[in-house]
Amino acid sequence: MSVADDPMSAGEVSVRCCIAGGGPAGMMLGLLLARAGVAVLVLEKHADFLRDFRGDTIHPSTLEIMYELGLLGEFLKQPHQEVRTIGAQIGDVFLRIADFSHLPTHCRFVALMPQWDFLNFIAAQAKGCPAFQLRMEAEVTELIEEGGRVTGIRAETPEGILTVRADLVVGADGRHSTVRANAGFETLDLGAPMDVLWMRLSRRPTDPEQTLGRIDAGRIFVMLNRGDYWQCAFVIPKGGFEQVHQAGLASFREEIVGLAPYLRDRVSELGDWPDVKLLTVAVDRLRDWHRPGLLCIGDAAHAMSPIGGVGINLAIQDAVAAANILTPRFLGGEISDDDLRAVQRRREFPTRAMQAVQVFMQNRVIGRVLESTGKLSPPLPLKLLARWSLLQRLPARLIGLGFRPEHVRISAGA
Ligand SMILES: Cc1cc2nc3c(=O)[nH]c(=O)nc-3n(C[C@H](O)[C@H](O)[C@H](O)COP(=O)(O)OP(=O)(O)OC[C@H]3O[C@@H](n4cnc5c(N)ncnc54)[C@H](O)[C@@H]3O)c2cc1C
Repeated sequence: MSVADDPMSAGEVSVRCCIAGGGPAGMMLGLLLARAGVAVLVLEKHADFLRDFRGDTIHPSTLEIMYELGLLGEFLKQPHQEVRTIGAQIGDVFLRIADFSHLPTHCRFVALMPQWDFLNFIAAQAKGCPAFQLRMEAEVTELIEEGGRVTGIRAETPEGILTVRADLVVGADGRHSTVRANAGFETLDLGAPMDVLWMRLSRRPTDPEQTLGRIDAGRIFVMLNRGDYWQCAFVIPKGGFEQVHQAGLASFREEIVGLAPYLRDRVSELGDWPDVKLLTVAVDRLRDWHRPGLLCIGDAAHAMSPIGGVGINLAIQDAVAAANILTPRFLGGEISDDDLRAVQRRREFPTRAMQAVQVFMQNRVIGRVLESTGKLSPPLPLKLLARWSLLQRLPARLIGLGFRPEHVRISAGA
């Protein structure tokens, strides 16, 4: 029976590039390819981008990409907050540890914006390109392989199974990537000693302005200023949620108050456990990011730790590098294995370097804090960082730009 006659089929389409996953990596790659005239289809399994507790940080390097695309002015009209410095409270001591105001970029701040607003913005820009298609509620379930090459995918949609034939399939479907599992890629697991509990608490005008990490014996609490609410992350030892749960919500609320006493009048907003979301942290990367006809980028190629909030940034940088390398190939003919290898070669160093920093921080700082029982005081390197404001430019550069930032090299309608 042909696809056209199969009542369970949603049909078959052909594109140059099919991207699995409409997250930051997939949507940015879709925009860049379509803007240059490459026919691209992005498949996203959810019906919208409206999911809570995704990272909300848009870093200076991503804002620079928006500038290079001529979209920065419009983008900054979206509601957002601007974080220009980052501080930490360790025990009773407050320290400023990163200052973005000297970065060599147009925006010297991290923009905090709900990820769905960011993705809706990218989608709206991409939809202006005739070569762009986005299909929501399309969950990629299977790779189509012919003669040792990936030639397309199958996706479940409300209308039935959609078959997509493509010169290149890109797996941008995140940390639990179906594409990478189906492709049988080998994964290097770097481990993480923690998980994170995410929650919202309302913010009052009298609260401090600053985005802040609060660190004390056995506890780490991060508060992101989101205007009328705080987006809070409570870091727990890996697998420790059951213990927190058993101790009860009242005890959890008290832990929060112990770290940020001014939240006492509103911790009751955490009325039941569904108000507290567990996010398991993974740090890993693929040994090979590609096979003939297939490339993985973003978290699908390398799940990042939440340390530094750099995952979205890296995902977008991957998309920019992939578009820079692959667009001329799409426009000129075929995509070869060498082209895909070139994308991995370009992005592997920044990924490995950032993961090395994250693993160092996880093991030397976070793991130790979570194991500690006595009152904490800042270690010497942090004291020096706080005292010499010049030194605060270093973490700002690492967080804000990462290693070897990418730039858009492909013009519209290239
Ligand atoms: C606790 C925690 C906090 C974090 N906080 C931050 C932060 O503050 N800042 C930051 O920069 N990063 C943060 N990160 C990391 C960040 O979320 C990721 O690195 C980033 O979202 C990766 O982008 P991506 O596009 O590669 O994947 P994702 O954002 O995961 O997007 C993948 C997309 O693919 C879709 N999808 C999945 N499977 C399929 C399928 N089979 N078919 C079709 N679609 C599919 C998903 O619905 C999703 O839309 C955090 C991570 C964790 C775990």
